[in-house]
Parts: sequence; structure tokens; C-alpha cells
Amino acid sequence: QRAVDHATVATVAALAAEGATDAKVPEYETLSACLEAGGYRAFVSCQSGAKSREETIAALSDAGLRGLGGAGFPAGRKWAAVAAQPAPRLMTVNADEGEPGTFKDRWWLERTPHRMLEGMLIAAWAVGVERIYIYLRDEYPAVRKILKREIAALEGAGLVAPGFIVLRRGAGAYICGEESAMIESIEGKRGLPRHRPPYIAEVGLFGRPTLNHNVETLAWIPDILSRGADWFTAEGRRGHKGLRSFSVSGRVREPGVKVAPAGITARELIDEFCGGMAEGHAFAAYLPGGASGGILPAALADVPLDFGSLDPHGAFVGSHAVVVLSDRDDLRAVALNLMRFFRAESCGQCTPCRAGADKMVRLIEAGEWDRDLMEDLSAAMRDASICGLGQAAPNPVRSILAFFNGTAAGAAR
Ligand code: SF4
Repeated sequence: QRAVDHATVATVAALAAEGATDAKVPEYETLSACLEAGGYRAFVSCQSGAKSREETIAALSDAGLRGLGGAGFPAGRKWAAVAAQPAPRLMTVNADEGEPGTFKDRWWLERTPHRMLEGMLIAAWAVGVERIYIYLRDEYPAVRKILKREIAALEGAGLVAPGFIVLRRGAGAYICGEESAMIESIEGKRGLPRHRPPYIAEVGLFGRPTLNHNVETLAWIPDILSRGADWFTAEGRRGHKGLRSFSVSGRVREPGVKVAPAGITARELIDEFCGGMAEGHAFAAYLPGGASGGILPAALADVPLDFGSLDPHGAFVGSHAVVVLSDRDDLRAVALNLMRFFRAESCGQCTPCRAGADKMVRLIEAGEWDRDLMEDLSAAMRDASICGLGQAAPNPVRSILAFFNGTAAGAAR
């Protein structure tokens, strides 16, 4: 109920601000600048029949492109699955970037929005969709202005039919970044995650087969098709394929979005891309995947940051939001902060998540790091919650228990 109220208040506030928003739009690459620089060649060449839909899907599979919103599902397989479903098919773009510590999609959209827009149109063409819905985080008013302008420019240039791309505003609920909750929200309902199966590739938006992608996933498509799958795969390290945008924050000298090889480690990311640790801070721990991906000690900073690599340590890279913590940070306080976030953002639909998150917060607040009780509660949340929010919510606590002793003294470092 709390999350719903929160969303309702945000909606009312957002509607009141409609038209009055004075978001400062940063300098970005407009459609004309993009076309001058050779943009949309990949899209035009797809439409002209230079490559078949099957060849295009195969190129993506060869490149190893994966869903970069957090789940890491292979993009080529997703395209093939949706294309095999009966028409009419729809597409959604998840631009509801809400994972704490993640700001890469905003970074892309505020600089080169046409990378995503071109990739989106190529995906729509390859899968044969009837309409595209972009679901944009409402806290990004400048991006909204940019997208409105540039979608109109695409229509004006005759690259898309009017009404083919629909821009929808989110309403401030973290859970609406979960794809089925996002779809409910686009349909005008409460953003409650759906049970699966059926998966949205079969029964998605308005009951139709739906292709859903994150912004960054789409942004890599034009480059992969123009420069070749081999170019993309060669960019990774340690056998991992491609490039990734890491949102790095915390105790580093130069935080920000870092476009780095897949398979890079946290230590390399800090040293090579962030100028090292901030003055007076010693590297102690890091969050590899925002609020959901767990907390790892600096001793595990040489593990590749990629899908699956962190599984043995009970963590995951998710949306590639790396938060660096130092010897000055109280890790118990970090875990409590994250658990309070999950408690506030739980949609309340299922008991393990709704009641479990609340119970976990109260245990930490009481200073009761009761390992058996917390592990039981974590297992119930992980195994019985409907969606990823409840399943991942106990991760910070599990990390503290696994790596930082879980006692008042031990967890503080
Ligand atoms: Fe809602 Fe949490 Fe259940 Fe997901 S796990 S459906 S957020 S209550």
C-alpha cells in the first residue's frame, strides 16, 4: 500500500507539473547531427532488404548481446522467440531506470538518444512489431523533452509513421521497472508484477506477444550491425563478450558512467577507469549490482563483473551499478538502508516480500543479527516471492552474514 500511495502522489505531482516542467536540456546529438555523422544507416539498410530479419537476429546472437537492464537474457534469443509468435506483436522499451546507483541509461539518452532510437527501430523491424511504447522514468524530465523532440523529428523525416512510437511516463514506483509490472502500468493499472508463465514474449502488453528491452541493450545494436559481431565480442576481457556501461559511485576519485569491457573486475574498474580510491579511503567492499546484487568484500574484487560470474558468491552484476565502499563505511548501516528501501518499494502483493522485508528491517534495527532466523527468512523471501524484488531483497543481509561476520563488531568493517 505504501508503494501505491507513493506512486499516486508522484503521479498527481507529475501531472500538475506537466507543461510547467523547466528541465534544463543538456547538449545532445540531434537527429540532423546524427544523420550527418552516418546514423540510421544500419536501420535504412535493414529496411532496404540488404539483410534479412533472420540474418540480423543471427548477427545479434553472434555478438553475444545480452539484456543490460539487469537480467542478462540473450537478446538474439528474445527476438527469435517474439518473432515466432502470431501478430500483432508489440514492443516496450524499459527506460524506468530505478535500481539504486544506476544512471547509465540517462547518460546515454542525454547525450546520444538516437543510438537507442535507431536500435529500437531495428529491433521493431526484425521482430515485426505494430507499435512501440517507451516507458520513461518520470524523474528524467530532460530526457522526456529530448525524446519528445527527437521522436517528432523522426516522424518529420519520414523515418517512422506518426504514432508508431508512444512515450509513456512512469510514476515513481521502483517496482514498475520489473517488466510485467511496467506492462500493467502502461495498460493503466497498478504496477503489480504478473505470475509467469505465460511470459510476456507470448502474452504481454494488451495480451499481445511483446518484445521488451532496456535502453542500453538497444543502444549497442547499430554499432554491432555496422561494425560486425566480431568487433563487439573482441571488446570483452577473459572470454566475456562486448562492452558495458558501468554506473560507478561511492568512494572513488572519478565516479560516473564508464564504458568498459565485459568481464572487467571491480579492482580494474576502480584503478583504470575511476582514478583509484578517493583520498583518505581504503577499499573495503562494493555493491556489484546496485541495491539488489549483494555486497562483496574487497577480497573478492578480482572476480569478473558479468552475468553469472558472481553467482558462487551469492551476488550478481544486474544493471552494472557498482557502489564502492571504504573502511570509513558502516556496512551494517548500508544493509539497513537497502532493506528499508526494499520495504518501502515492495508492492505488497505477496507475503514473503511484504512481511519479510519489514521483519528483516526490524531485526536489523534491533541489532539482532540472529544468523539462523535471518537465513530462514532470507530463504522464504528468495523461494516464495513472486518477483525479483522480493527474491533479491535479502541479498544485503545474506552478504553481511557471509562475508562480514554478521555481528555488531564484525559487520562494521
Ligand atoms: Fe510485490 Fe514484492 Fe511480491 Fe514482487 S516480490 S510481487 S514486489 S510483494
